[in-house]
Amino acid sequence: MLRVTGIKIPVTDKVPDLQAALLQKLGIPPRDLQGFTIYRQSLDARSREMIYWVYTLDARVKNESRLLKKHAGDKTISRAAYPVYQFVKPGREKLPHRPVIIGTGPAGLFAGLLLARTGYRPLLLERGADVDTRTRVVARFWQEGHLDPGCNVQFGEGGAGTFSDGKLTTLINDHRCRFVLEELVRCGAPKEILYYYRPHIGTDILRLVVKNMRNEITRLGGEVHFNTQITDIATGDNRLQGLVINGTEKLPATVAVLACGHSARDTFKLLVERGVQVGPKPFSIGVRIEHPQDLINVAQYKQFAGLEGLGPADYKLAYHAPDGRSAYTFCMCPGGTVVAAASEPGGVVTNGMSTYARDGENANSALLVGVTPEDFGDEHPLAGVEFQRRWERLAFRLGGENYHAPVQLVGDFLAGRPSEQLGQVRPTYRPGVTLQDLKKCLPAYVVATLREAITVFDRKVYGFALPEAVLTGVETRSSSPVRIWRDENYEASTGGLYPAGEGAGYAGGIVSAAVDGLKVAEAIISRYRPLE
Ligand code: FAD
Repeated sequence: MLRVTGIKIPVTDKVPDLQAALLQKLGIPPRDLQGFTIYRQSLDARSREMIYWVYTLDARVKNESRLLKKHAGDKTISRAAYPVYQFVKPGREKLPHRPVIIGTGPAGLFAGLLLARTGYRPLLLERGADVDTRTRVVARFWQEGHLDPGCNVQFGEGGAGTFSDGKLTTLINDHRCRFVLEELVRCGAPKEILYYYRPHIGTDILRLVVKNMRNEITRLGGEVHFNTQITDIATGDNRLQGLVINGTEKLPATVAVLACGHSARDTFKLLVERGVQVGPKPFSIGVRIEHPQDLINVAQYKQFAGLEGLGPADYKLAYHAPDGRSAYTFCMCPGGTVVAAASEPGGVVTNGMSTYARDGENANSALLVGVTPEDFGDEHPLAGVEFQRRWERLAFRLGGENYHAPVQLVGDFLAGRPSEQLGQVRPTYRPGVTLQDLKKCLPAYVVATLREAITVFDRKVYGFALPEAVLTGVETRSSSPVRIWRDENYEASTGGLYPAGEGAGYAGGIVSAAVDGLKVAEAIISRYRPLE
């Protein structure tokens, strides 16, 4: 198989003739091309005159070696290589009990999938409900403002990302990423995530994928239990001996993957109380910004905005302030909605999601400023949690104490006055919004950095500082406020506990959390032998 990179097709070509471009590039007649697949598809919008799709294609050709020789020296033509996931060899230690996985977010599900596939029959315990029940409970929260602290946007089957854009972009460069994408496709995700430069699934399809993953784990001998919260751990000789479920039931356990996500505040507290080494870590806080999607399309695609096949545009922006603070956009959701993502009573938390079609009228993105343990005002391991809680509660109060979120127009935010009236951008946050002054629920340095950043971003994405764009507060759960220490074998300071994923502080986003879950499962496999 040959890999051919850099095949550029103008986005104005309604039916891109990839075959013709491939034949021309290779300089072969059609009879010598036996077939081809897309390995990667990206977008090049750097030129003012034209936007191009840029393809990497894998081609089966006659006389491959001769053709390679002919193109020797042309770096855009090479032999195709595929990363194949290598299963680790099982270890020798006997495992007295089934491995337990706490949490069914991407880290827990992928750890579970790998352990199930290799014969360890894992037991997955999830505090929230199954995805169908959870979807109904969350919809009720968004309609009526009744929060269920046990089952919400953070807790339940699929974890925090179930009600998300399902963006699968990641900054990590790990061979397991391809395995993660392939497994997601096997469970129902669209095939293009394997090659598209900005892969995304959408919350609608993700819910189905999550369910299929659960079914695959159970088919392979694993078990998944919902409404099953780990409320305590039993230890002896500095090793895990057992778990307590829902405050009553005792479960003997030797190995437990702690994939509890970044919002399991009670679980973090429990770990600290039981002497597991946990420390604070930096994260970011800020707001969601909403623009009309058409404005972003025009800013990014110019005269090509709205062209069929181009899809809604996105952006990714960063600003470094002279005082050392940084602001950046994060988790941008084209054609999406801003969601109420609280998990604790008395707090307002925002985030964003979209469906596969990404066809909503607004674009939204988190607009965040980095904060560090020095900002938390306390050295307690959970000082970051308290810091988040403080701003979430202020936002709750400002919103009207009914989970309505405080919002402010960008023009008013920049001018330092509370908003009194919405403009052309209709906020998508449910159950509702209250016009406010967001400086009352954010640290002053965050407000100052965001003001500077918005002005700078407007020069990069024309219209970013649109006076009627809407800011919704507060976004506090961008990543974990803690890191649960683990050694080179992925074990916590209490042996047998394996912290994994975002909540443990080792991942940020769906793919990296999934990869971390795989790494932890590999560590367990390489130490213990499968169950008899
Ligand atoms: P989580 O997904 O948080 O899963 C942890 C699970 O553990 C939860 O289901 C929780 O209920 C369970 N749990 C916690 N404590 C216990 C306990 N004591 N006992 C039993 N179960 C417990 N990332 C992206 O890459 N792309 C996106 O587009 C994207 N959009 C997002 C949109 C929203 C609205 C949110 C909230 C997040 C989004 N993210 C996105 C972030 C992404 O969801 C997380 O990075 C990812 O889910 C982290 O995976 P995880 O497995 O580490 O933890």
